[in-house]
Amino acid sequence: WSAAEAEGLRSDFPALQQEVKPGVPLVYLDNAATSQKPKQVLDELNRFYSQDNSNVHRGMHTLSMRSTEAFETARQKVAKFVNAPDSHEIVFTRNATEAINLVARTWGAANIAKGDEIVLTVMEHHANLVPWQLLAESTGAVLRFGRLRDDGTLDVEQFESLIGDRTKLVALCHVSNVLGCVNPVERVAKLAHSVGAKVLVDACQSVPHMPVDVQTLGADWLVASGHKMCGPTGIGFLWGRGEILRGSPPFLGGGEMIDQVTLEGSTFNDIPHKFEAGTPAFAEAVALGAACEQYLTDLGMAAVSQRRRAGGEHELAKHLWSRLEALPGIHLYGPSPETQPDRASLVCFNVDGCHANDLATLVDQDRGVAMRSGHHCTQPLHGELGVTASARLSAYFYNTIEEIDVAVDALEVAIGLIRTGPAGDEPELDPA
Ligand code: PMP
Repeated sequence: WSAAEAEGLRSDFPALQQEVKPGVPLVYLDNAATSQKPKQVLDELNRFYSQDNSNVHRGMHTLSMRSTEAFETARQKVAKFVNAPDSHEIVFTRNATEAINLVARTWGAANIAKGDEIVLTVMEHHANLVPWQLLAESTGAVLRFGRLRDDGTLDVEQFESLIGDRTKLVALCHVSNVLGCVNPVERVAKLAHSVGAKVLVDACQSVPHMPVDVQTLGADWLVASGHKMCGPTGIGFLWGRGEILRGSPPFLGGGEMIDQVTLEGSTFNDIPHKFEAGTPAFAEAVALGAACEQYLTDLGMAAVSQRRRAGGEHELAKHLWSRLEALPGIHLYGPSPETQPDRASLVCFNVDGCHANDLATLVDQDRGVAMRSGHHCTQPLHGELGVTASARLSAYFYNTIEEIDVAVDALEVAIGLIRTGPAGDEPELDPA
């Protein structure tokens, strides 16, 4: 879209309109952690709470029926957004983390045994690592890890060499929240299925940014968080193949997930309710439905990730990479846009002699840039990269080339300040 259209889009996001201090507009480049929310989603949340709010399912009164209808319609919107064949295959969860734990505790506990292998990659977010570590501890299963190539992408050949007769599950991210690389999920899923293994895709960093079709990817489960895709916090989803979800034991026990309960035992509801014990975050689910359909689909996911149009995320990724690359003493992680043209519009990096936390503090103070620093919930990956922390700038469709320039200009100033000290004093260096 044109610069004017991009400007129009920005006006949908109230949080983007602020100054972090007088005369310093917010430059929000922390979208991989969470996105801002458009007024269409905020209005829907407000409308729902103001007009339809009532607990969902089995109520006979008008509001309860309206609320249930809105909740189940939201499920259909999410299903459509990722092209799930049946909306009953969408389970609402608190976030992606809960969705992965759900699979580990249900299907995993029932199907993984001593000596079975779970194949992951070293770039996984802790959310797609720790649940499998816990499962491996309780079952005696073995975790195996795909490694990185020198260019910061997954070593696909080495990864595929791990998949064999003992593999029961392959779980990997679609897009890394640190390297920004896109992993070849379709190819991996075909190989995993040929040896009878199941595949889980952590799509937290892909679903908000590109068209994702669960049927094309060919995985068995896919998880994402609403708050990274213009939706509210407290809501995420799990898509799973119907027959696998139906064949898995329940997750949490309580209301909603049952069919019949006696003092001696219970039978369970059909999917997805079997996995949604207790009062769900129904208002947030309704707002997530609005984010998917009334916002992102209206915008067009293909346009969101459009490669060539000015302001598209691919343009932002290329500009971000090339501006950062020119900074002295910088180390960028992940593939360059030349190596992987469809890489994500997020870049993690370190600068010699500058701690990521100091850089993040200075760019915020100086130019209002929201930049994240730390291990981004990927301690093992940072270990592989030989560091304990990194700085991350992550763009979304509402960011502009000018904002990236502000951020990188601010970084340049920050680096100079750290290296020379404010008044030309000896620097106090805290090496990254
Ligand atoms: N996986 C990836 C790749 C992520 O980027 C994140 C969020 N940083 C998560 C999983 C976890 O998401 P949440 O905290 O919303 O469950």
